[in-house]
Amino acid sequence: MQSSKKVVVLGHFGVGKTSLIRRFVTDTFSDNYKVTIGVHITKKVVEIAVDSTISLILWDLEGTDDIQSIRQSYLLGTHGAVFVFDISRPSTFQHLNEDLQLVAEKMPEVPLMVVGNKSDLVEDAELKNLLQAQELTVDFLTSAKTGSAVNELFLKLATILSSDA
Ligand code: GDP
Ligand code: MG
Repeated sequence: MQSSKKVVVLGHFGVGKTSLIRRFVTDTFSDNYKVTIGVHITKKVVEIAVDSTISLILWDLEGTDDIQSIRQSYLLGTHGAVFVFDISRPSTFQHLNEDLQLVAEKMPEVPLMVVGNKSDLVEDAELKNLLQAQELTVDFLTSAKTGSAVNELFLKLATILSSDA
């Protein structure tokens, strides 16, 4: 039997949640900004090993600058979460630790990936300084635009989820 895991993608407005999912699922990117309204759900089957697949059900939640206001009903039955911020926009990671705290409170025990997106917009050296200065712990630095680290991110999460019962 193939297992199916619900993954919610969270983060402030415009950080690239929809773009990351689109890059992962259809390997495309668009500069056209369309705000997600409500929730968008897409499924992708991921091969985590030979003869071993898992279905990720990706929940693209409407951007919100207030994590507290996310409807609890959207989060029910979540197996994994991705929190995305935009490394080119400090306002999206200024309160990262508090945001992550809230996410953990809303979804205790749920594996979480912390992702700095839009790595194509910031120089490597600048990025290092930024992360050090802010004392941020980040699992992946991605670019939905170039595709950098996007598959790695979702594969890592899928692998973690596949070993959870
Ligand atoms: P969401 O509100 O979090 O779903 O963000 P979107 O996926 O709608 O993206 C917001 C804007 O950022 C759009 O104009 C995207 O084209 C752009 N964007 C998203 N990801 C990237 C990225 O990795 N690099 C660059 N340069 N732009 C991106
Ligand atoms: Mg969106």
